Amino acid sequence: MRDFAAGPGAGAPLDVAVVGAGIAGLAAAWMLSRRHRVTLYERLPALGFTAASVAVHGQRADVPLRVFYPGYYPLLTRLYATLGVASEPVSYATTFSGADGEPYFRWRNLRWGSRSWPLVAPHDLLGARARRIAFGALALQRRLRAAAAVGALDGATIGEFVEAERIDRDCTEGLLWPALATIATCTTADARAVPAAVVAGYWGAGLARDSVRRAVHGADEVAARLVAPLARVVCDAGVERVEAAEGGVRLHRRGGVEERFDHVVLATHAAQALQLWPGAPADEAALLARFRTRALTVLMHRDERLMPRRRRHWSPVHAHVDPAAERPESTIWLNAVQPSLRQAPPLFQTVQPQRAPRDGTVLAEARFERPLVSLDSQAALAALRATWQRTAAQRRVWVAGSYAETGVPLLESAVRSALSVAAALGVASPLSSA
Ligand SMILES: Cc1cc2nc3c(=O)[nH]c(=O)nc-3n(C[C@H](O)[C@H](O)[C@H](O)COP(=O)(O)OP(=O)(O)OC[C@H]3O[C@@H](n4cnc5c(N)ncnc54)[C@H](O)[C@@H]3O)c2cc1C
Repeated sequence: MRDFAAGPGAGAPLDVAVVGAGIAGLAAAWMLSRRHRVTLYERLPALGFTAASVAVHGQRADVPLRVFYPGYYPLLTRLYATLGVASEPVSYATTFSGADGEPYFRWRNLRWGSRSWPLVAPHDLLGARARRIAFGALALQRRLRAAAAVGALDGATIGEFVEAERIDRDCTEGLLWPALATIATCTTADARAVPAAVVAGYWGAGLARDSVRRAVHGADEVAARLVAPLARVVCDAGVERVEAAEGGVRLHRRGGVEERFDHVVLATHAAQALQLWPGAPADEAALLARFRTRALTVLMHRDERLMPRRRRHWSPVHAHVDPAAERPESTIWLNAVQPSLRQAPPLFQTVQPQRAPRDGTVLAEARFERPLVSLDSQAALAALRATWQRTAAQRRVWVAGSYAETGVPLLESAVRSALSVAAALGVASPLSSA
């Protein structure tokens, strides 16, 4: 977390605008509202965090699914606990199949309470390829841990690390790249460029023992609780630009509407923040321009053909890995991960679809941009943090977002960035310790 030297001290509440109602903006607005008058702006007709969710069978299904595991998400876990948002363990066991549609690897979950261990069942190891993948994964985990312990991962991508360590190609092509490209929703080439230390951090934080979890009542409840204390929430907001004004910031909205705030938090992607803030100092603008995103599509549908051909091979998650495709396709079997949909007809969420579901089976389509993490983005982040630190006392415009903290850009880094901005504006962490 950023540790700003000096934000505003105790004093009268400030007028603060937060632009962007993804989890970073929602969390920042909620924390800042402890002490300040906060207006939250979202460009979409609904809060960004829940804007793509779908109503189905009298339920709401999150799009995308927002799962987490406590080891890597200590702040999100505490945020949910503070908000009173209940979460439940879900199985994220995965079947991997190739271009021919035949499964070649599968890991299951051995679950006990909130603990969960990945398990490759003996009968899933009958093929030589599955054995090479499993043993390759064990070797990779061991070597990553050893290298991380002595700081030997710095400056290396995971692609370079597996080459240097001669990790079995069956493991990298069949498991590592598809899994990483699914977690970070990116292409296989993007996955290879992820810093090795980031992969080690994600894997080493307890993924092999914590159960993956989801909010029982989905993203809607999280968002509702986060906006409850806010002074004003404006969706479809048409925020066009922010600029320095006498002792504050002027925010320009569609139709020539101008509002003045003491501080503004841009909780959007870096490129969007840059667009909104044409007067950003040149050094900061140059650093923000180094964060890249990858566009992707998510489909909600009912086409079972995007799952393994035989039902007995189905897992909650299906990774379809066609070596000719630039990215894997992953399909989540929603009935298996959202207990309230267990009895409903089969329902799927396919991320980065490479094959079109059958006509008439698609319920909804959503598009997202996901920040990429690379050695360059991490270097830009380190330089940005130094800038933020140096300018904390005079700043009026702040940025937050999943890209604005180290690690895989996920809900956790977004919440961490919100906490940092709140701390800089004089709000002590409101998160409970459990
Ligand atoms: C398919 C997929 C699956 C994922 N699964 C998981 C998961 O299981 N677990 C997990 O931890 N993470 C997951 N993630 C990542 C996670 O969703 C993101 O890291 C997180 O939502 C980022 O939050 P954010 O607030 O930084 O950005 P965003 O959610 O992108 O929020 C930015 C907001 O700013 C708004 N905005 C932009 N410009 C303006 C403007 N001019 N005016 C007003 N508003 C504006 C946007 O509309 C948006 O709502 C997934 C992502 C995808 C795409």
